[in-house]
Amino acid sequence: MSMNEIIKETEENLLHTYNRYPVVFDHGEGVRLYDEDGKEYLDFCAGIAVYALGYKNRRYEEALKSQIEKITHISNYYYSRPLADAAKALTEAAGMPRVFFTNSGAEAVEGAIKAARKYAYLKDNRTDHEIIAMKHSFHGRTFGALSVTGNAHYREAFEPMIGNVRFADFNDFDSVMAQVNDRTCAIILETVQGEGGIYPADKDFLTKIRKLCDERDILLILDEIQCGMGRTGTMFAFMQYGIVPDILTCAKAVGCGVPVGAFLVSDKVAASSLVPGDHGTTYGGNPLACKAVATVLEIFKEDKVIENVQAVAPYLEKRLKETVDRFDFLLAERGLGLMRAIVFDTSKKSPADVVKKALSHGLVLITAGADVIRFLPPLIITKDHVDEMIDKLVMALSE
Ligand SMILES: *Cc1c(COP(=O)(O)O)cnc(C)c1O
Repeated sequence: MSMNEIIKETEENLLHTYNRYPVVFDHGEGVRLYDEDGKEYLDFCAGIAVYALGYKNRRYEEALKSQIEKITHISNYYYSRPLADAAKALTEAAGMPRVFFTNSGAEAVEGAIKAARKYAYLKDNRTDHEIIAMKHSFHGRTFGALSVTGNAHYREAFEPMIGNVRFADFNDFDSVMAQVNDRTCAIILETVQGEGGIYPADKDFLTKIRKLCDERDILLILDEIQCGMGRTGTMFAFMQYGIVPDILTCAKAVGCGVPVGAFLVSDKVAASSLVPGDHGTTYGGNPLACKAVATVLEIFKEDKVIENVQAVAPYLEKRLKETVDRFDFLLAERGLGLMRAIVFDTSKKSPADVVKKALSHGLVLITAGADVIRFLPPLIITKDHVDEMIDKLVMALSE
């Protein structure tokens, strides 16, 4: 079948919820993807911040194969060695004592919301607690996660949401204070907003939020599903802010291609929130997913993946800043580590058009929000890959 035939057949059967680019990817190798015709692409999307280790990492593949040969699923009524390994590795990596494994990011957010509500319920037996979330945030497509997603367009047709959610402006502490009251049980935010356009939290903002949460026993939920797992130059982005959340969500790169997410909680939350019967999942934390998590974290350590992010990110930042200076329709560059964005004057140039052109030049990029192209390469990229990316990007920008 040709690519066009595959696309046509897919569109005949799939519910149309995505406008896909007209390319059929067949396989990957390192930081490159190959389509059905054998055309090569440099990948600065990594499956939306998933494939941190690049494609065909031998050690990762061997670990998954060996697990498939043993068993891929049991049930959460039993223990497995990969579950023990993954729980130990992820709690150590996050510096948080307890973890619950999910199948996706949205489910990690659902669990985080339930844990926060239960924690508050156990304190005062009330069921009218509120959550403060941020405008332009993104936390996923299920109802709880959608309810704290600060983009009305995503929510509108699906109202009513879970309720008792108030929105504040990201990086504006006064706007958060304006929403706090004695029913506030949690504040949820992305340490670096992803879908909203790659906005890192200000240090002052996050420090003040942490202090507010401590003073009022409000739980701070940090969603690091996109910005976590080494992407910003530390294992989790919050580690650069000198604070620790009460609940942390992660997914995307935590399985590097195997669908898995997690939420982690502090001792305080673990001691007084979810208990047997409160929360569960059939697949979550199964041996295959957990083998992926444990192996990914091993490879992170042994291959010094985070050190590589620290070495390459300043170079990507520099090259992107130079590019912004070259084109009058580019307004700014921002980001943290290998999570970066260039901002367009959309009256002059459409970022979506540039992404399409880049694809024809063999470069995979994605947009975020309406005016941004974001860069989420595999964390194993080198400066040469950055140079190659910039050359292709400049071609796409120049057309
Ligand atoms: C991708 C993402 C989610 C949702 O994860 P899914 O696995 O798609 O459910 C939630 N929060 C953030 C910050 C994300 O980037």
